Amino acid sequence: MISFRSTRGAAPVPLSRALRDGIAEDGGLYVPERFPVLDASTFSEAQSLPDVAARLLAPFFEGDALEAHLPAITAGAFDFPVPLVDVPGAPGKLAVLELFHGPTAAFKDFGARFLAACLGAMAGGERRKLTILVATSGDTGGAVAAAFHGMPWAEVVVLYPKGLVSPRQEQQLTCWDGNVRALSVHGTFDDCQRMVKEAFADPELSRAFALSSANSINVGRLLPQAAYYALASLAVQRAHGAKASFVVPSGNLGNVVACLWARRMGLPIDRVVLAHNDNRTVPDLLRTGRFEPRASVATLASAMDVGNPSNLERLRVLYPDVEELRGAVDAVSVSDDAIRARIRQDHARYHVVHCPHTAVGAEAYANLGAEQQARGPWVLVSTAHPAKFHEIVEPLVGAPIPVPPALARLLALPQRKTEIAPELSALRAAMLAGA
Ligand SMILES: *Cc1c(COP(=O)(O)O)cnc(C)c1O
Repeated sequence: MISFRSTRGAAPVPLSRALRDGIAEDGGLYVPERFPVLDASTFSEAQSLPDVAARLLAPFFEGDALEAHLPAITAGAFDFPVPLVDVPGAPGKLAVLELFHGPTAAFKDFGARFLAACLGAMAGGERRKLTILVATSGDTGGAVAAAFHGMPWAEVVVLYPKGLVSPRQEQQLTCWDGNVRALSVHGTFDDCQRMVKEAFADPELSRAFALSSANSINVGRLLPQAAYYALASLAVQRAHGAKASFVVPSGNLGNVVACLWARRMGLPIDRVVLAHNDNRTVPDLLRTGRFEPRASVATLASAMDVGNPSNLERLRVLYPDVEELRGAVDAVSVSDDAIRARIRQDHARYHVVHCPHTAVGAEAYANLGAEQQARGPWVLVSTAHPAKFHEIVEPLVGAPIPVPPALARLLALPQRKTEIAPELSALRAAMLAGA
């Protein structure tokens, strides 16, 4: 059985406890105590994402209360396609891994749906309703709301920075009735994230609610994301007989940590590039060796506007010293101007329409240089559908972007939200008023 320990040292707990608590007692993040190393035969008959995920995650579920539920959880959570689409004409061998075919059109659907399915399977044993608190820079909140909406055992409270998410993202946060509430915070994503952490430490809220987190601090969000890296890297190996390298648009580092976990477990993954926007905490850490968290700055790739990434703690557990980290990953920063130019250019050259986040990755790829590109095959991780950011993308490509049907349904619903100040006291008051 593989337990989960805190990045700050608290005693290991079983998987279901880590999923339920979200954050460890000592304020650290749960990480697997060890990683199983799987060989290719583990996946020999697994073709679909649910099958690959069930095999990849089986060692973490072994001996846990959720063990028997795993196949049903992966089948239920991953019921949408995950295409790996070649980009003909691109330098090097490049494919785009489209992670935006879920209900809210961003990769956050994988983690949110998996976590909801796990907590749902555990709900029979809970006496109290869970209150899921989630801070969002845009996409997490919508994915979590969609995944937990209508679940009788859960309430969801979403905090998002007012005016700093796209109009369609805001719609996906505020279109819910019943058990989902949206709080529009007069502050930044970092304020929202801090308020959620403070809420967990607040005695009054802990008494009033059975709090749980659905942010990427919850290990139940990251584990399922490792599965699509497994699926994609196995497909690349079958097609090209070589390991896949990944470019991952990154903010809070949940997506890329999942990729690195998959690599640790022996999946055929070579280089990993972290593509950041103008929030350059991580590229600067690699360059200077110093970690200097800072306030987030607003960019076109707003879901990646994170100045103090939560999952850096998990990255540092994997690679404790900076030299090691430099050997393990590369990290680059991409400006808003470069995002705009890349969206235009890749549309003109390859007829690919990127969302602004994916464009950060595409620009990082373009800047790798011919030698690195030739070292591929490369996979560009596409984190959201461009229709979520139509106000940015449409003027750049000069054409309307068709809206996926699932997104169109949400866009037609009325909005419901409460505005609050960026303080714990305001969050407390809003939560107690709604209880
Ligand atoms: C959340 C998000 C990211 C950043 O992912 P992290 O796991 O926070 O690094 C990138 N792109 C989109 C569209 C997102 O929603």
